[in-house]
Amino acid sequence: MVYVSTRNKNLRVSAAQAIAMGIAPDGGLFCPTAFPRLSHDAFVQLMRMDYKQRAAMILGKFLTDFTAEELAHFTEQAYADEKFGGKDTVPLVSLADDVHMLELWHGPTCAFKDMALQMLPHLLTASLKKTGETRTCCILVATSGDTGKAALEGFADVPGTKIMVYYPVDGVSPMQKLQMVTQQGKNVEVVAIKGNFDDAQSAVKRIFTDTETAKRLDAQGLMFSSANSINWGRLAPQIAYYASAYCDLLRAGKIQHGQTVNVCVPTGNFGNILAAYIAKQMGVPLGKLICASNQNNVLTDFFAQGGVYDRNRPFYTTDSPSMDILISSNLERLLFFLSGQNDAMVKEMMDALAKDGRYDVSGVLGTQLAADFAAGFCDDAQTAHTIKKVFEEQKYLCDTHTAVAIHVCEQYRAQSGDHAPVIVASTASPFKFCKPVAA
Ligand SMILES: *Cc1c(COP(=O)(O)O)cnc(C)c1O
Repeated sequence: MVYVSTRNKNLRVSAAQAIAMGIAPDGGLFCPTAFPRLSHDAFVQLMRMDYKQRAAMILGKFLTDFTAEELAHFTEQAYADEKFGGKDTVPLVSLADDVHMLELWHGPTCAFKDMALQMLPHLLTASLKKTGETRTCCILVATSGDTGKAALEGFADVPGTKIMVYYPVDGVSPMQKLQMVTQQGKNVEVVAIKGNFDDAQSAVKRIFTDTETAKRLDAQGLMFSSANSINWGRLAPQIAYYASAYCDLLRAGKIQHGQTVNVCVPTGNFGNILAAYIAKQMGVPLGKLICASNQNNVLTDFFAQGGVYDRNRPFYTTDSPSMDILISSNLERLLFFLSGQNDAMVKEMMDALAKDGRYDVSGVLGTQLAADFAAGFCDDAQTAHTIKKVFEEQKYLCDTHTAVAIHVCEQYRAQSGDHAPVIVASTASPFKFCKPVAA
């Protein structure tokens, strides 16, 4: 399978190259040029498998320069029972009324980032070997809280790598900060920055694409890569759990073969929901992809206005800090896919975003956006109310990010009358954000 930059289709690389590089030199994000399809037989096979086997099978469709044995070995290690609290790597917990919570936070750092960041070190070190890379890989990470710890945990003392994490000094929860600054390991570094996640992510992207810096690093036997969801190696492992959740619903007899299921995802950098979109393109019968934001609702407006993205607005620090983002990087990949891989258009829009903080694709992509996506948002007061209500009525305790998704999901169902079963991505343990949850 060939990967290309969203900003230049002539830049063609293998999966291993895409993962080793992290981001394209032109600032674009690597994307597969086609989506592999899951046949009926593939679903029958997936149904019989455990999560580790399912993840290896789905990854194998995208990472064609890795062997099935390699991927099986990696998923065995990444999703080992002792790391994920048992055999059920991603439990699906049903609330009343066809709402199924996909708990993605049973890994070592209690957030869904572990699903990808336990895999990425395996994928990255193998990619470096496959591409004949001998330099030490310096991984720069921008975090709004959860990525930082999950990346540190994944890369601590991994040979051939160093990792440096930048977090907004006033933008993470006390637990998130403590998790990061107490990280063990000889190759880890944590830096607080003045600014928010967008500042951190933009600065890191600038460093990645600076040719002078790359030359100086190279002279010292070093290279950069990324552990943010701009790296394809972060995104690919996330596709698997949507296919897996669908199989679990089938296996439990909660849906029929081929029945449409909606998905609702609490969204920040647009990585997790993009993984659901890709699962849908592979043939998993997913319907509406419901994009849930907190008060930083740039994506809600983007979908409501049929494709006008405008980050010129106040930035709010909320009780769901991992979603405090106004520049959702992976939207670039969606524009690339929906536009039939129109790299020139994507480049023009991303230049406009960098220059004016705004772009408009409503004329070209408006109808397609509305076909696949719905969107809504939820402020801190509604988040608190939702946590309380779900706990009292359903005896289910959820964290603030997940509560945003539950609220938006209810809103969507009430407004649209679409009562298809829905998988809600539950992205963090309620015990990770104690203060707002306990209040
Ligand atoms: C990162 C994160 C999100 C947002 O996911 P994206 O892939 O950035 O959209 C949501 N909830 C939690 C708990 C997170 O850590």
